Amino acid sequence: MSDPLFERIALIGIGLIGSSIAHNVRAHGLARHIAITTRRQETLTQAETLGLGDSYHLEAAEAVRGADLVILCVPVGICGAITREIADHLEPGAIVSDVGSVKGAVIEQMRPHLPEHVDFVPAHPLAGTEHSGPASGFVELFQNRWCILTPLPETSPEAVERLKAFWEACGSNVETMTSEHHDLVLAIVSHVPHLIAYNIVGTAADLETVTESEVVKFSASGFRDFTRIAASDPTMWRDVFLTNRDAVLEMLTRFSEDLASLQRAIRWGDGDTLFNLFTRTREIRRNVIEAGQDTAKPNFGREPVKGDKPS
Ligand code: NAP
Repeated sequence: MSDPLFERIALIGIGLIGSSIAHNVRAHGLARHIAITTRRQETLTQAETLGLGDSYHLEAAEAVRGADLVILCVPVGICGAITREIADHLEPGAIVSDVGSVKGAVIEQMRPHLPEHVDFVPAHPLAGTEHSGPASGFVELFQNRWCILTPLPETSPEAVERLKAFWEACGSNVETMTSEHHDLVLAIVSHVPHLIAYNIVGTAADLETVTESEVVKFSASGFRDFTRIAASDPTMWRDVFLTNRDAVLEMLTRFSEDLASLQRAIRWGDGDTLFNLFTRTREIRRNVIEAGQDTAKPNFGREPVKGDKPS
């Protein structure tokens, strides 16, 4: 292996994100050694069977010993407790990072426990699927996706550059911003859309006048796409809403006001308002495709399913 970016990477948590990082480290030779640690023996055994790492540990402290890069790939709500557990075992000069979908709360939880001799570079790869666990990861997950770094005033610029190089080697485009800005942006592009999906699927499931089998049977008409998002990991998303509460509530207030004005337009037969909004949103979809963030293929490039009807 010629000059890897890191000697030893410790991955704490080996679900979708952790295992996708492991695949990238292997595929692109980003470290000499991948140390994997996770909470349950069952998950660790699965990671070992898949050959994701070089060493496997039930004790996080063991995995981080000698590591020059440590990445927490666990639900946001547990980051503080894990940092407390590993703090005394971190190598001087190590970079400590995470992949949490919320940044302010992660920093608040982790920062007080970290020793001065490490560099903390919080990160969030904007890439995911609705699947969880070590078998769900794949090497292309981060390809052409954004990874946002939210360094702190005390983080050294060299550490930020090294982590940037790491994520770029995984195929990501990297941008740096404050954690406050990150949490506000993510509330509108990710967190509120997930809440809407959870809510609409829940409402449909509760409707007494429409049977559950009809909801499933006719789901191709738009509802199906919400069910994909609403199948996302319950632990992860519970933690996202509990930890990004302020930004999500602020965006929900805006969302509710806009929804009320659409309701009014429908009630008063104001077709122009509806038409103008739908034209504007179509343009946004075009921009997303032009930015390479989705495919223009019909049905999101999905293989047609037997009995599929246009929505
Ligand atoms: P995942 O597939 O469910 O894997 C979670 C990992 O965390 C597993 O190794 C699990 O260990 C461990 N874990 C869960 N609860 C724990 C606890 N209480 N204590 C210690 N370890 C625990 O999750 P993921 O999708 O990779 O998400 C991990 C992080 O990435 C989250 O912070 C999430 O916000 C962020 N993220 C997710 C996505 C996405 O779309 N999924 C995208 C970007 C960022 P065991 O299996 O051993 O219990």
